[in-house]
Amino acid sequence: MALSRALRCCQRVFSWIPVIIISSVVLWSYYAYVFELCFVTLSNHLERVAYLLIFHVCFIMFCWTYWKAIFTPPSTPSKKFHLSYSDKERYEMEERPDAQKQILTEIAKKLPIFTRAQSGAVRFCDRCQVIKPDRCHHCSVCETCVLKMDHHCPWVNNCVGFSNYKFFLLFLSYSMIYCVFIASTVFQYFLKFWVGDLPNGPAKFHVLFLLFVALMFFVSLMFLFGYHCWLVAKNRSTLEAFSAPVFQNGPDRNGFNVGLSRNLRQVFGEDKKLWFIPVFTSQGDGHYFPLRTLCESENPLLANEGKWMEDGGSDEESAVVSWLTLAS
Ligand SMILES: [Zn+2]
Ligand SMILES: [Zn+2]
Repeated sequence: MALSRALRCCQRVFSWIPVIIISSVVLWSYYAYVFELCFVTLSNHLERVAYLLIFHVCFIMFCWTYWKAIFTPPSTPSKKFHLSYSDKERYEMEERPDAQKQILTEIAKKLPIFTRAQSGAVRFCDRCQVIKPDRCHHCSVCETCVLKMDHHCPWVNNCVGFSNYKFFLLFLSYSMIYCVFIASTVFQYFLKFWVGDLPNGPAKFHVLFLLFVALMFFVSLMFLFGYHCWLVAKNRSTLEAFSAPVFQNGPDRNGFNVGLSRNLRQVFGEDKKLWFIPVFTSQGDGHYFPLRTLCESENPLLANEGKWMEDGGSDEESAVVSWLTLAS
């Protein structure tokens, strides 16, 4: 017991290593750009002020989004999705798997759940004892079920999901802007050092490495960012891109794809002024997501609406209302 606790403690400490690596590289880049490039290498005062000003805007936005991506806790299913004491007792007393499935199906009828496991059963997490809302998955690293889980990212040492997906995307964007700005401003000084127009010294080493590191990060981020742009446009999580969500009628990769504009608004919110600021503006509460088939006459949400209204308190009611607003 003590051994497993010690192992878990070690694992928790080691999981911060990628974040420490990124932070160290960023701190070094700050020193190299501000002191070695702007103060030591640059001779034009106006150029120095302009570079420092833009650099600090990029740097602050990068740090802010990185911080938010790391320290925003993943959101977990609300109490409504946990088994009540009596349901739990009934579920545990039952030994036949089929009867257990039946119990879960009955409970799930009262919840706005449209996805199923591959077997067709209601998705249930044994470890958290929770009926998984649509798009929710259990993260074995965080040891909890995470709403609209995208993936567990070691570079932010956090689960990327409903609560921080916008922050993660902004972190990728501002990282790229930071790299592009550094590479484009450093390039001419890199050439000057290369052809010998500037004297040899420690600044040369820092400037050469700044360009090399900025380009290397930019190229790797470009692929990841491009992939996530495609995912947002299609309204898919990384997990759903690998394994299509299963609905009552079978798997459907585009089950949550409600058109580019609405897909974007689901992640970034209605107010375009806040799209590029790392404040939470994603729509809904992470438990319900509009379905592509929502506009069709056989609308499962509307068919179940009455049930939730009867069953749920004011929280549930407002969640469904906000969900419906989102869908319209
Ligand atoms: Zn779980
Ligand atoms: Zn996780």
